[in-house]
Amino acid sequence: MVSVAEATSVVFSNLFQPTTMSVSLTDAVNKVLAERITADRDFPPFDRVAMDGIAIRRDAWKMGQRAFKLEAVQAAGEPRKTLKNKTNAIEVMTGAPMPDGADVVIRYEDLRIEEATAHITSEMAADNAFIHRQAVDAAKDSVLLEPGILLSSAEIALLASVGKSRVKVYVFPKAAVVSTGDELVHIDDIPLPHQIRRSNTYALQAAMKTLGWEGAIHHLKDDKASMIEGLKKIAQTAEVIILSGGVSKGKFDFVPDALEALGVKKLFHQVSQRPGKPFWFGVSPAGLTVFALPGNPVSTYMCFYRYIRPWVMKSLKTSVDPSYAVLASDFAFAPSLTYFLQVTVKNENGKLMAYPEAGGGSGDFANLKNVTGFLELPATASTFKAGETFPYIPFRQ
Ligand code: AMP
Ligand code: MG
Repeated sequence: MVSVAEATSVVFSNLFQPTTMSVSLTDAVNKVLAERITADRDFPPFDRVAMDGIAIRRDAWKMGQRAFKLEAVQAAGEPRKTLKNKTNAIEVMTGAPMPDGADVVIRYEDLRIEEATAHITSEMAADNAFIHRQAVDAAKDSVLLEPGILLSSAEIALLASVGKSRVKVYVFPKAAVVSTGDELVHIDDIPLPHQIRRSNTYALQAAMKTLGWEGAIHHLKDDKASMIEGLKKIAQTAEVIILSGGVSKGKFDFVPDALEALGVKKLFHQVSQRPGKPFWFGVSPAGLTVFALPGNPVSTYMCFYRYIRPWVMKSLKTSVDPSYAVLASDFAFAPSLTYFLQVTVKNENGKLMAYPEAGGGSGDFANLKNVTGFLELPATASTFKAGETFPYIPFRQ
């Protein structure tokens, strides 16, 4: 048996080496950038007018001039104009190039225009130049984005600005999601009294989908020979297999034996945690990674969010930011296991307060609908006080 910290470190030492692919910018959100992006020109590319108004020379303002004859209009999208007469003004629009010869913009709010002459009405009007200077955001060839960034709409804007209509992103490993158990029937079947419908594979597939990761669903019987056969077939196309069930001490828990028969090397079996103690993890020399999770729905769910999600994001050269929440009421858990407490987290004045959910056994997945995530309570203590902060593993946005 390994600790949660040891299990985490083993999982993170066995990352997947992703390939890359080129996707259209319109499909790139939520994908992980796999190339360095540099500025193809200065940003902004010219001294850009930042307010609608007039452009004048500051010298004229300083000399006390407050009325300026309008000699031209400089619209956005027009080539730069030149202020011909140093005591005149050019009307300028936001986004236009700052006219040559002018060095301050006076906003319409600070002037009154009468008969093609602008009269400046505020003594503070020239305090700010209202010019967005060329290259202040980024100089040509400077690095805008490094590989490993999870692309949000903000980065999509940057990519669009530099003309990246296609962008290189990391590819998730090909994944198979496999349920095991002779008591489990297909969701379209009517279960007999001693049977249940299989839900874990759907939960896992859905959790993966929220990351943008596809998983093909399979089911295997609690029979060693057919399990080996089935896994062999799945391993022909999968780069990672996520199993649920069949890893405990039961008479028909054949998953560890079947995996080892296939040459998948066990890196740990059993983690000192609740739920999820029977968790098995291994890799094959051919590069297959296997997470064999206990079948109890809550264990499966917890292990996905605590181990697999960070593993896959780290493999794609990005990371899942650690989250923390404050325990809202005292809680006790005596066994020396890391306890993943089901909690409902509420944001109270900017503080994430974690309220323990009653019930919450590892099979009690109906409870999960009230829960926002797990609070990770260390194995080293048995009483946990309201007000203490612990790592929080959210599974909702
Ligand atoms: P196991 O880890 O195989 O001993 O399974 C533990 C418990 O989880 C048993 O009650 C199983 O019926 C249940 N279980 C296992 N796999 C699934 C699944 N895919 N969907 C729902 N329940 C499951
Ligand atoms: Mg089973």
